[in-house]
Amino acid sequence: MKILVLNTGSSSVKYRLFDGADTVAKGLIERIGEADGDAADHGAALRQIMDSVDLSGLAAVGHRVVHGGSDFEKATVVDDDLVAAVERLVPLAPLHNPAALTGIAVARGLLPDLPQVAVFDTAFHASIPPEGAVWAIDAELARRWQIQRYGFHGTSHAYVSRQTARLLGRPVGETNVITLHLGNGASACAVQGGRSVATSMGMSPQGGLVMGTRSGDIDPTVVFHLHREAGMSIDEIETSLTRGAGLQGLAGANDMRTVQERWSAGDPAATLAFDVYCRRIREYVGAYYAVLGRVDAVTFTAGVGEHSPEVRAVSLSGLSALGIEIDPDRNERGEKIISPDGGRVAVCVVPTDEELEIAEQTRTAIA
Ligand code: ADP
Repeated sequence: MKILVLNTGSSSVKYRLFDGADTVAKGLIERIGEADGDAADHGAALRQIMDSVDLSGLAAVGHRVVHGGSDFEKATVVDDDLVAAVERLVPLAPLHNPAALTGIAVARGLLPDLPQVAVFDTAFHASIPPEGAVWAIDAELARRWQIQRYGFHGTSHAYVSRQTARLLGRPVGETNVITLHLGNGASACAVQGGRSVATSMGMSPQGGLVMGTRSGDIDPTVVFHLHREAGMSIDEIETSLTRGAGLQGLAGANDMRTVQERWSAGDPAATLAFDVYCRRIREYVGAYYAVLGRVDAVTFTAGVGEHSPEVRAVSLSGLSALGIEIDPDRNERGEKIISPDGGRVAVCVVPTDEELEIAEQTRTAIA
């Protein structure tokens, strides 16, 4: 059974065609609408994809949709009501949801007889209990404006926590994992028996851990202060906190490899950026340990998590009292389990595969 997975961005479409768990085709159409781009518009981009791959035996198209608000707790077959609901959520994800809607509309037009499935980044976190999702602000304002923690990277946290249980040879339903997705965007998740019970991103993918260009958690007064005292507009502040903050803001580079090169060379700004990045991870690991009560594994994934032994070592340093320890040689070699044998908490490195998870959730949704 073949599944086509589409990740439609504002100016790009990433696609991957699965046959079972095997990838039979994949690619990226970029700079859509630009003079030297790969396609004139999203319609042309999707037609190009469909013309280039063998769609025989295709059972469904799975679309990555960033924001499902509190409407969607799992991957859902697309109909007009779903499209209307995702449209209503555009104010919560103004950059991402319109692109996904375009992808859905074009794919429905080109493949009208095939089920289309929306797979939400937020859905895995629908199981977070109210005390972990609600902020202590005016309840009426929060209700009216849909202000709460939704969380993101859900397909990655779901996939990686399940893979971790498999790696440890334990049933998912009896395994507690803290997953650390450290890519350009970064988030932590506490997974209790296969269900998300806490995550670091909030209403948007801006909160929580330090990221490539995003600040992660800050005191909201920073915004008021920059507006009143620095005379910056709300848009300017948003741009600064989302594109000029994080590693970029502290070290002048958003790529962890660059930050680590400068850190190794003794650059003070890069050293501070690295330390702030790792300390924030450690704070979340401690917090989620307290939320879970018992932790079976801490798992690193995504670009930084999979490839930086330095970040793994520093962010989990000093936690041996919690049973969290790293074996330096295993860590350096990037083994799947990098904790010493017999440790109370396994520390794992598991490559994420969001597209495969989207394909599997699509399959489940149409079954
Ligand atoms: P995205 O979130 O866009 O999918 P990735 O998961 O690919 O991104 O992660 C990108 C990040 O991973 C970048 O900051 C990059 O510097 C970092 N990264 C990749 N390889 C390494 C490495 N060997 N050491 C440290 N960081 C790395």
